[in-house]
Amino acid sequence: MKVGWTGDGGLWRLRLRLDPAEGVGGTVTDGQVVELSTDTCHVRLPRAVSPHPDLLALAAWTVVAPWTAGRIVFDRPISAELAAAFHSGWGIDAGPVGEAARTGGARLAVSYSGGADSVAVAAILPDAPLVHFRRVGHPRVPNRWTHYRSDVLAELAEQTGRDVTIVDSDLEFLLRHPRPGYPEHHAVTIGAALLADDMDLGGIALGYEIGSRWLGGGRYVHRYTPDNPMWSGHGPWGRLFAAAGLPLVLPVGGISEAMTMRLALGSPLREQVRWCLRGDADGPCDRCGKCLYKELIQAALERRPMRTTITPDRPVARKWQQPPPYGGQEMIEYGCAHVPGIEDTPFARAAEYLKATKESTRWLERCYPPAVEEIPGPWRKRIETIMADEFGFMDADDIERVESWGRR
Ligand SMILES: [Zn+2]
Repeated sequence: MKVGWTGDGGLWRLRLRLDPAEGVGGTVTDGQVVELSTDTCHVRLPRAVSPHPDLLALAAWTVVAPWTAGRIVFDRPISAELAAAFHSGWGIDAGPVGEAARTGGARLAVSYSGGADSVAVAAILPDAPLVHFRRVGHPRVPNRWTHYRSDVLAELAEQTGRDVTIVDSDLEFLLRHPRPGYPEHHAVTIGAALLADDMDLGGIALGYEIGSRWLGGGRYVHRYTPDNPMWSGHGPWGRLFAAAGLPLVLPVGGISEAMTMRLALGSPLREQVRWCLRGDADGPCDRCGKCLYKELIQAALERRPMRTTITPDRPVARKWQQPPPYGGQEMIEYGCAHVPGIEDTPFARAAEYLKATKESTRWLERCYPPAVEEIPGPWRKRIETIMADEFGFMDADDIERVESWGRR
């Protein structure tokens, strides 16, 4: 793989060239098979910047990793430290080498989507700047996904009144298959990576909660995953970001989606929370799978019946008519245990299968201690205090539930 960046003011264009042994088929760290559609994309920042070469290399890697085999050649030298992280993490020879490593800055930015998890992070870090990724169209790739309202999500981010930086990019259209999306999940941080010197960033906080970080994420696997290659501090991605002076920080990595939602909806950012990608300025769509899933969690939190017009026969409700395992199963268990009248909802069958109770799901209201231990030093104490005050830490039985997840 060869990659080159061209910067023109705030507009940064990435061009990639496959080696003869590389094809348009690739595999994401989470196992998703993807197909490349074109060889260029851009990132538009609000101002001109000149990032450290390791930041440019990191940013490029979040885009091209799925298709890279054996080696990657950047258009400017990187540090030996970054090259070592490529080698130990992926067995990739990266170079040329010849730049001094970047020393991290002092601030922590929040990668802010506007969903409940990232709002929770923003809420517990009230001074942190927010960086929001906005999908824009690609000049060469038709957009068959016009229902995704990235304009609405960016507008909501701006309405927070926080220090918000909107970063525009068409990089998701590099994926022809299965749909436009981040080539690697980490590509959402591309704006923060390119702005890290300009914003004096020493870390990037993401809203991954206990399910995504420790329970396998649900969509692809369903088991306790301490060595999660995407988000663990000691995994390949964690080490690469750290080598670039921008360690990944998961402030809510020890709590469940129900608890991130509790933080978000109890915060001053409540009006700007939006997990539905399809809704317009008036509100969420109440027709998509995300709306259904999140309404279950919110109803559980509020200990009330679900409010939805989605019926069990709808395609978005179909998977809940099947036996487990489910993606995000811990939250289905929590929802089934706490929503009155669950037998009259699309989750009735799932509730029968799971037989979850308030007692069996109590661990989902507390914080898993190892998640705090892996938060980088400068921010650990502050997060630990918040977790202790808001949720308390899991006891030995709770921890056993986490660490035996998917094996019961
Ligand atoms: Zn929706």
